[in-house]
Amino acid sequence: MQSTYQNQQWFYVKRPDGRVSNEHYELRATELDGNLSANEVILRARIVSVDPYIRIQQHERNTYDVPHPLGIVQRAGVVGEVVASASPLFKAGDWVSAYSGWQLYARCHHSELTKLDPAAAPVSTALGVLGMPGRTAWFGLTEAGRPRPGDTLLVSGAAGAVGSLVAQFGKRAGCRVIGIAGGPGKCRFLTETLKLDGAVDYRAHATPAALSAAIQSATGGVDIYFDNVGGTITDAVIPLIKRRARIIICGAISQYDGGLDTPDLGPRFLQHMLFQRATIQGILARDFAHRMDEMLAIVAPWVKSGEIVFQETYVDGFAQLPEALNSLFEGKNIGKLLVRV
Ligand code: NAP
Repeated sequence: MQSTYQNQQWFYVKRPDGRVSNEHYELRATELDGNLSANEVILRARIVSVDPYIRIQQHERNTYDVPHPLGIVQRAGVVGEVVASASPLFKAGDWVSAYSGWQLYARCHHSELTKLDPAAAPVSTALGVLGMPGRTAWFGLTEAGRPRPGDTLLVSGAAGAVGSLVAQFGKRAGCRVIGIAGGPGKCRFLTETLKLDGAVDYRAHATPAALSAAIQSATGGVDIYFDNVGGTITDAVIPLIKRRARIIICGAISQYDGGLDTPDLGPRFLQHMLFQRATIQGILARDFAHRMDEMLAIVAPWVKSGEIVFQETYVDGFAQLPEALNSLFEGKNIGKLLVRV
């Protein structure tokens, strides 16, 4: 068994108040001791997931979590290969997913790993459609959205990892689905590739009133609003809700790169909740972690048969991780953003 591994690790060292840069992360070359205890494996990361929640955890106040500590490896989901094993459950060459963070090699206890079957689905899907984003989309829509055939479902961040799945799950539930996304290319992806009923390019409207008018004209009113972005887009949507609308707060990415500790205060809209007897519900992926198999039993066959489109955007290179994180806030990805390392 190899005794040491030449490792690379990104340490999170300073809390950002805007985009992340070299002052917030340090790339360190380290050595990993490869002497394994019983039930440990060495994992070589191959694909690292880049997710907006990384920015939520970087804020200095508690959110749904305590703040990510400074001075440790940036936490993140990865897919990788077992390269050495002292576990009866895993052997070298096995593909697994784990939460081992921004590092090339990690020594993991086997209880931290989930085995993947590359013959069943591309291993990258464990970080997207068949992983946390898929679970969020599935349970967020079905449990909090309670879609019914004929409902108008509006999804913000609709061309992203979670949004593109919510939109497709909504179509399968018989909803009329309209997506909001930034730019004509993403809007074409929504209508031509995902076959949504309409798309609104939020960047094409200079004022919240103009955006609201465009959303009204595309939707005719909203039964379910699945919100991934918050901020002014959500302000533009709330006055358009219909009777007994369900508003699902999945994310507020417009607020993460600086605004979570000092949030933007938008128009007060709660009167519309009263007028329409509507509900707002926050949903969190981890609350459904114990129901992962239930989601996989339904969604994995759709992925295998090609009935669900799972788009992925790849960035190449371990050194690119902080920039890849920033690119989420510049809308550079369609579908799930992943870094090949
Ligand atoms: P994603 O949508 O694949 O990527 C982020 C996208 O957000 C970008 O491509 C960009 O698309 C859009 N965006 C960025 N800044 C924006 C802004 N200021 N205004 C409007 N849109 C903006 O990421 P994801 O992983 O699927 O996550 C989407 C949301 O779901 C995030 O808010 C995330 O925190 C949340 N989430 C929540 C849970 C949960 O458990 N509740 C789990 C997973 C994700 P455009 O080009 O269209 O602007």
